[in-house]
Amino acid sequence: MARLQDKVALITGGAGGIGLAIAQRYANEGASVFLTDISEDALKKAVQQIGPNRADYAVADVTKPEDNQRMVEQCVAKFGGLDIFVANAGIEGEVKPITEYDLKTFEKVIAVNVTGVWLGLKYAIPAIAKRGGGSIIVMSSVAGVIGSPGMSAYIASKHAAIGLMRTAALEAAPMGIRVNSINPGPVETRMMESLETQFAGGDAAMGAGVRQQFVERIPLKRYARPEEVADLALFLASEESAYITGQTHLIEGGQRAG
Ligand code: NAD
Repeated sequence: MARLQDKVALITGGAGGIGLAIAQRYANEGASVFLTDISEDALKKAVQQIGPNRADYAVADVTKPEDNQRMVEQCVAKFGGLDIFVANAGIEGEVKPITEYDLKTFEKVIAVNVTGVWLGLKYAIPAIAKRGGGSIIVMSSVAGVIGSPGMSAYIASKHAAIGLMRTAALEAAPMGIRVNSINPGPVETRMMESLETQFAGGDAAMGAGVRQQFVERIPLKRYARPEEVADLALFLASEESAYITGQTHLIEGGQRAG
């Protein structure tokens, strides 16, 4: 039997990168997937790719309370309930030291990566509780367990995401809901390309050199593929992880081993 047979999953930031890979993986394992993001065009393409009988979408900005409430309501109306919530939407912000970092950018990163996760939890937990339990995954990062010069907002936000995950795990355990974080190192998506270019001072061509430096620091000598993060997200959503909650799960090619 498929590992998520008849389950319903809601994935924020589901139109691209890691979110879309998770949606595709869940759908392949028998789940219905409800995707939210800020770009309707990208959402439509994602639903086409997965198959409209297994997927639907809503345009929803995770920083807005009403959008979070509506996305959960629309998901439940469409697929009859909610079993799995993946708080995946996130932005990287800029690469600058704290002394030069723009306050508005800092606040935007916190709004999407922290307030957005909190709002998602606020509305998803009651819906999952109505089903008698389920699984929640918060997309943090290796940036949630270490510092990194130039990325203050992102680092702070991904640390905060772990705090939210742990608190939600304790609050939701009596409802049969498990909550875990996934903490990837570099993954092959738009976000890493943006960071490489920013670390290269805005020069996309020089970004290739930055990428090489990043890869050199990874024992497995490559970035993760989004599909590999999706494999971990599948395990954490499935019954195979039934006794795992409140934990961080690093997927980073061995970078933190040394
Ligand atoms: P991505 O930019 O490809 O995908 C992020 C998605 O979130 C996009 O589709 C974007 O439109 C959406 N989004 C942005 N702001 C939003 C908002 N306000 N409301 C709703 N959706 C919004 O990046 P990705 O690499 O797929 O990142 C997914 C998650 O994984 C993020 O939380 C990111 O921080 C985390 N992560 C990524 C990496 C990496 O190397 N790519 C590493 C560790 C953690």
